[in-house]
Amino acid sequence: MQSTPHERPISVPHQPVGELVLEAGRGKAFRVSAGTKVKLTNPYGTQAVDFWAFNAADLDEYVSTEHIRSVNSTVPVNRGSRMVSWRRRPLVSIVEDTSAGDHDTLLCPCNADLYAELGCTGHHRSCAENLHEGLGELGLDVPFTPASVNLFMSVRAEPDGTLTRLLPASRPGSHVTIRAETDVVMAFSSCPQDVTTINGPDRTPRDCLIEVLADAETPA
Ligand SMILES: [Zn+2]
Repeated sequence: MQSTPHERPISVPHQPVGELVLEAGRGKAFRVSAGTKVKLTNPYGTQAVDFWAFNAADLDEYVSTEHIRSVNSTVPVNRGSRMVSWRRRPLVSIVEDTSAGDHDTLLCPCNADLYAELGCTGHHRSCAENLHEGLGELGLDVPFTPASVNLFMSVRAEPDGTLTRLLPASRPGSHVTIRAETDVVMAFSSCPQDVTTINGPDRTPRDCLIEVLADAETPA
């Protein structure tokens, strides 16, 4: 696994201003201006991607899964869902979604303690670490880990109240497009989970692709 993201300018439809490979098991954060769309493609259809968004003018205001469920009256998010902050203001919205559309809002981002519970010894990368590492690359610090929206991750709430972690259900090449409703900092983590089957039966994290479609600071 390489530590340096592959980044290059490209020229394809929708006039993207930049793209980067979200490497398997690693994260990236970048600033996105209001109105800009960011497209996340899942080339294999199997990779769960934890997602956060913060108000760029006030990092204390961030997308809140509990308020997302309250405002949208749904458990998963998909096309049309408003991802609101704990102040119930839409920070970002899902404007396009060709995936199975069952992006989870229930489970936590993985962290070091979770991998210790799973029996891992030594350092294991986590979505929490990826978030803070990505923010740190921007010179930003958030002293806690908000709950994530877990894109392409399938979790079902059963009638008896239990949760079932399902295998990934999206087709290869599926994508979601997220629009910034105000100036935000977006953070994405290709979940490094390789113990459970949340990233597929072969337990292998894989690369995804991020494209910034217009009017945003190119990921750097
Ligand atoms: Zn994770």
